[in-house]
Amino acid sequence: MLHSIFDVHTHYDETVFDADRAEVLESERASGVCGVINSGSSVPSSRRSIDLAHQFGHVYASVGVFPLEAYDVPEGWLEQIAGLARDSRCVAVGEIGLDYHLEDGVGPSEAQQESQKHVFCAQLSLARERGLPVVIHDRDADEDTIALLREQPCPGMIHRFFSRAEYGFRLLEMGLSLGIGPAITYPDAGELIRVVREMPLDRLLLETDAPFLPSARFAGQRATSLMIGDVCETIARVRGDVDAQQVAQAARENTRRMFGV
Ligand SMILES: [Zn+2]
Repeated sequence: MLHSIFDVHTHYDETVFDADRAEVLESERASGVCGVINSGSSVPSSRRSIDLAHQFGHVYASVGVFPLEAYDVPEGWLEQIAGLARDSRCVAVGEIGLDYHLEDGVGPSEAQQESQKHVFCAQLSLARERGLPVVIHDRDADEDTIALLREQPCPGMIHRFFSRAEYGFRLLEMGLSLGIGPAITYPDAGELIRVVREMPLDRLLLETDAPFLPSARFAGQRATSLMIGDVCETIARVRGDVDAQQVAQAARENTRRMFGV
């Protein structure tokens, strides 16, 4: 069993954990998970993240509005996020970013993309003002994400990195870290594997996006932070210069450096 597992991106406030949230979090803790960051994606879920972080000693929060929530943000949303970001258990602004993914051939309109950018930029400013790292969601919006980050550079991570290897290398060059998760355990992970093989280990963070991204052998099930074990095994195998425990340990150190936890 691995120890020192830190899952930097989760959504344990999701209703799918309503029946057994405390049980899941406590049993993970007993099985080598030393910490998790619960990520907000809207004002209410950011508030729930903070609440969870006050209930469980090994849970920390990040707060922010996610790109697909950007179209109808409530009045005063930025002040509310800024207020939550002041909480002692908040360690980052996120998840924030851009999502241009096409669903059945349809993606966000130009006006919607503009709203996403506006909400993203406002939160980048907030993070810079507060000296907090950012947790970035980028789906099919690589060029605009890089352009906006160049305008407002900020320490942080690209969460659930899954894109062309060249883009991964550009992000690393900009000083960002990459959140590597169970996607690496699936057969279509070729580009991701290339990045993980070549990237410096001190830029690697581990995440499951629980409950959303189970590792391949648990496909279709609810993801939990214990699945980081499969991720560490896969990273160790494709790199060949570390074992799974060393991967967990390195990511744990990187988490401390980036988020102060
Ligand atoms: Zn997420």
